Amino acid sequence: MNNFDLHNPTRIVFGANTISRLDELVPATARVLILYGGESARRNGTLAEVRAALGQRDVREFGGIEPNPSYETLMRAVEQIRLEGLDFLLAVGGGSVIDGTKFVAAAVGYQGDPWEIMETHGATVRRAMAFGAVLTLPATGSEMNSGSVVSKKSTKAKLVFSSPHVFPRFSVLDPTKTFSLPLTQVANGVVDAFTHVMEQYMTYPADARVQDRFAEGLLQTLVEIGPQVLAEPSNYDARANLMWAATMALNGLIAAGVPEDWSTHMIGHELTALHGVDHARTLAIVLPANMQVRREAKRAKLLQYAERVWRITEGSEDQRIDEAIARTRAFFESLGVPTRLRDHDIGAHHIETVISQLEAHGMTALGERQDVTLETSRRILEAGL
Ligand code: NAP
Ligand code: FE
Repeated sequence: MNNFDLHNPTRIVFGANTISRLDELVPATARVLILYGGESARRNGTLAEVRAALGQRDVREFGGIEPNPSYETLMRAVEQIRLEGLDFLLAVGGGSVIDGTKFVAAAVGYQGDPWEIMETHGATVRRAMAFGAVLTLPATGSEMNSGSVVSKKSTKAKLVFSSPHVFPRFSVLDPTKTFSLPLTQVANGVVDAFTHVMEQYMTYPADARVQDRFAEGLLQTLVEIGPQVLAEPSNYDARANLMWAATMALNGLIAAGVPEDWSTHMIGHELTALHGVDHARTLAIVLPANMQVRREAKRAKLLQYAERVWRITEGSEDQRIDEAIARTRAFFESLGVPTRLRDHDIGAHHIETVISQLEAHGMTALGERQDVTLETSRRILEAGL
């Protein structure tokens, strides 16, 4: 097992009717900015519930944070906070709103051009405003981690930053708030969470038995509840299990002491930035292709995955690996999430641009061994056609 240093300060308040707890979670004298997305949080009543819980506090709103939040939009929130002298942020939404709030929290007091935060992947962040979150979409884990993904529309860049300063102080997870989600978003959430686990598990063995079994337990849970959350959209326990699985998939716990890959995400980000494909839908294409192309380097873990997650015990090693990859693809497809670039009208002639963007963003040595060169990324994209 590798050495590690694990510290996750985010308090999680989980369960039905927990939004009322905001009154004790947000400082009584706070001047609050609620950040939200389109209109879903207003339509399903979450915003009203949040405002009611905040009582007499001075509360302002900033709406319109789009999926794959843009720097351009977020900088308008930064301006509002400076103008109105606000001191506490509350994100109400999915990963995009929470990620956007993290960027805003870091940008408000930033010395210099805030886009540097993204270009340095967070290394230059020295402080951030305090913020909490009310999660409405189980998927990204952003509610309990220190990562954020922000896009710049003008250059079609989608970059990641992380900083210990942008852990949420708290996150409220009320599974009933996910009942209003379109099923496509629910399916996306299952795929995103599944892929997060895989990025921290499908590497090479580090003899980290606890982490491996945590990861396998999360994968098995997602395989089990994926069809259920779609078939029974108001099944509370199914949604609760999905919500907690998605949080646990990316809160640092299963990453402790193990190698991490993340090449599927980095390649996927370019597909979203260039072609507007939903985050999870890019992962559903790249992950199976990535396992296929890098099967030799990942052989030992692929065999473990085949046996422990999919219970594949028959056949030669290569047959078991083939079947595990096929089962992964079939699982995504069974959720209504396609796994080929052609499903999004992306063809071979588009690959070169994706590769140029990866190069422009310094994504030239990805993966757990930093050996995913542009050439390997090209082969992965070709395998995803
Ligand atoms: P999202 O982009 O936050 O939301 C997708 C859509 O779902 C929006 O249109 C939103 O509508 C709607 N929605 C959210 N909650 C709803 C509800 N309860 N009822 C009805 N509609 C609802 O989706 P996401 O998958 O959570 O976040 C994706 C972003 O997170 C991507 O940018 C991705 O790169 C990033 N990400 C971050 C991390 C991380 O660790 N920080 C990890 C993976 C991915 P409204 O706009 O109307 O609310
Ligand atoms: Fe993700």
